[in-house]
Amino acid sequence: MHVEGNPRVLDGVAIAAEIKAEVAQEVAAARTKGYTPGLAVILVGEVPASQIYVRSKVKTCGELGIYSEMLTPPASSTTEELLAMVDALNKRDDIDGILIQLPLPDHVDTNQLLDAVLPEKDVDGFHPINAGRLLSGAAPNEVLAPCTPAGIIEILKRSNIPMSGQRAVVIGRSNIVGKPVASMLINESATVTICHSRTRDLATITREADILVAAIGRPGYVTPEMVRPGATIIDVGINRITTEAEVERFFPGNAKRREGFEKRGSTIVGDVDPAAFAISGAFTPVPGGVGALTIAMLMSNTVKAAKLRRKG
Ligand code: NAD
Repeated sequence: MHVEGNPRVLDGVAIAAEIKAEVAQEVAAARTKGYTPGLAVILVGEVPASQIYVRSKVKTCGELGIYSEMLTPPASSTTEELLAMVDALNKRDDIDGILIQLPLPDHVDTNQLLDAVLPEKDVDGFHPINAGRLLSGAAPNEVLAPCTPAGIIEILKRSNIPMSGQRAVVIGRSNIVGKPVASMLINESATVTICHSRTRDLATITREADILVAAIGRPGYVTPEMVRPGATIIDVGINRITTEAEVERFFPGNAKRREGFEKRGSTIVGDVDPAAFAISGAFTPVPGGVGALTIAMLMSNTVKAAKLRRKG
């Protein structure tokens, strides 16, 4: 039962560690069957943020025993050259997952490239075939779902937060987060409403949510008036704030945040105003919530892809 003022913190870091330990066991089991799951990551050009993400994906592969390969074609690569690279990876039996790190340079046709990845190797879950399978209600163990939405569902399941029959409201309709998480919540038998930038009376709708998912990309956009007391809040947003006024607004009296802000000149806030967490029943913190799950789910998808392709 929810006691107001005492929300549960849904610890993404702990849940990610649990998932990674399970993946490591599955990798060990695959090896006894004679194969090692393998992930290829294509990083085009030298985008610093992308380099950091890719390095941490490759590092996690190593920790869990997954074979990984990083391909780093130059930013000047043409769509055709990159398509040839994807085609070669599609044909390799030792590669189970292919990830194309986004964003790609402007001159590259991103959709054409994403569509060229074999659906069986699409560990990001962005291929239209996989998006379609998700929408058609494929069982979670039979479809490669996008990593961030899959992580959200894992957090809810592993925290024993019921979804069946619950009212879920998703703010955001992106193909990466909003739409797939809405599909997955429907597959878990929630009653789902998707809201977006043109939604009228947003707060009236969000206040009905038992589960409120915020994937907007605006710092602290969801305020306490938009939340039903006791609701579960899943905050997907990762927003960097850089002004004193914002730090004071979102983290009043929080010495740790202020110290971090003074050291680095910025701090991270989600799409939910922390004041709204206070009236929730449970919430994912930022950082340490949804964001912590994304790489774990990529690892899990790589092993799933390896198993599905080999039918066990
Ligand atoms: P996006 O920009 O593609 O989509 C944002 C969505 O929010 C749009 O559908 C838009 O309609 C909606 N929106 C914008 N303003 C709104 C408003 N005022 N009211 C209602 N809806 C509004 O963003 P995205 O890729 O879905 O990402 C959303 C957030 O999640 C970002 O902060 C991003 O950094 C973060 N993110 C986090 C992870 C993770 O691993 N935790 C992964 C992906 C994205």
